[in-house]
Amino acid sequence: MTTSFEARVPYERRIFCNRNLRLDRVRFIGFDMDYTLALYHEAMEHLQAESVLARLVETFGYPKAVLEAKYEPGFAIRGLAVDMEHGNIFKMDRHRFVGRVWHGTKPLDRDLRRDTYTNRKISPADPSILMVDSLFSLPEISLYGQLVDYFDSLPEGTDKPTYERLWKDLRQAMDSLHRDGTLKADLMENIPKYIMKDDALAETLHRFRSANKKLFLMTNSEPIYTEAVMSFLLDGAHAAYGNWRDYFDIIITSSQKPSFFSSDDPFLEVDDETLEPGTEPATALKRGTIYLGGNVAELHRLTGMEGDDVLYVGDHIYGDILRSKRSTSWRTAMVIQDMEKELGQLHDMSAEIDQLNVLEETRFQLELERAAQALDGVRDKDLLQQISGLNRQLSELEARIAHAFNPAWGPSFRDRGELSAFGSQVEGYACVYTGRVTNFRFYSPFWYFRSPRDRMAHEIRR
Ligand code: IMP
Ligand code: MG
Repeated sequence: MTTSFEARVPYERRIFCNRNLRLDRVRFIGFDMDYTLALYHEAMEHLQAESVLARLVETFGYPKAVLEAKYEPGFAIRGLAVDMEHGNIFKMDRHRFVGRVWHGTKPLDRDLRRDTYTNRKISPADPSILMVDSLFSLPEISLYGQLVDYFDSLPEGTDKPTYERLWKDLRQAMDSLHRDGTLKADLMENIPKYIMKDDALAETLHRFRSANKKLFLMTNSEPIYTEAVMSFLLDGAHAAYGNWRDYFDIIITSSQKPSFFSSDDPFLEVDDETLEPGTEPATALKRGTIYLGGNVAELHRLTGMEGDDVLYVGDHIYGDILRSKRSTSWRTAMVIQDMEKELGQLHDMSAEIDQLNVLEETRFQLELERAAQALDGVRDKDLLQQISGLNRQLSELEARIAHAFNPAWGPSFRDRGELSAFGSQVEGYACVYTGRVTNFRFYSPFWYFRSPRDRMAHEIRR
């Protein structure tokens, strides 16, 4: 159900609400940069994939044959987990039970799947399991599958890494590419190839400013990269603003989220010309100046922010959303770039999804009937046949719907009849969520986002 106003906003562009949020109470709006203000084209994934394979060969001593691994965009989705012990990739539901499992580039054999995962609730503390929640990590997931296949294909006795070593090398190689500036150097040579320009961004930020909101940028990216990306996104985009820095009251780079929310690192002022940080802790945060580092307590002290008057808009469930909520009372908006596609698919499949709901209800009623008969000692063959026919129909329909979302994993937000682990994190931690920042322009800066009232199972089935 939407309010009549919201019905005018295209479904893919809506902002969805988990917890009531009154924008009129928000005085500060903070933005993450990468995958929030700056959405990346698929070219970024290819760049990451090619660079990481090259690094595995050059620095980690991997055979040249791994360069043949073909990166498959669209294979991985957010919220997947890697099982380093078995070399598997899997999706979990909200209760941390394992759903689909892939080994290499194929679904895991049914028996192996059952033996390894059935009735096993995955502990967040299990050191051999890693949940991948950043869009920057999708290339690693896809390549892990490819490389597991490659090393599996080598004869026994060949010198090859364990599944765990392989994942750790891939992770470390990708981490080093981010940290030593290799990726950023390639990105900065051709920013339009990698980063999308959303013409509505300037107007969206301007509307917030016109409603007297103070805006801040808080990114883990370094000053030089931030300057390059933000200039590309905003310089010359609106007559009222000289350059990108004019949109923001505070600019924080290399913020080290999530530790920004617990550290006592000082803010360092960055030189306007060289973009190098000074060494003296800043005693004020001046408009138009770039800062580096810092911590949330100092940010509150220097700006008068109180916590629940801050809305932070980010893409990373842990670094941006969960930590800011746990450590402060910041409100949060999560940008989920893949949502637009998923909402489109949801829309296209709505007839099938309605049909699924009808069939599930019918099955439920028939199961009740069967249970009642069983109590009377009756065994109705027709009824049993009807139920097993329905079960078949339901699993075919479920598979068809899931395939339309993502052939390997189904939808991001659901896992069979449950919320997926990712869906449940979004529901649990993001006050509101949407496909892109500029969707805020469809709503007044004083809008009251209201969550659909939570209902428990006994309230729904009355
Ligand atoms: P933000 O989303 O604007 O806070 O910035 C994300 C930053 O983290 C970007 O500069 C990325 O290059 C960087 N980043 C992403 N993944 C990794 C990693 O695995 N290791 C180190 N840095 C990373
Ligand atoms: Mg980000």
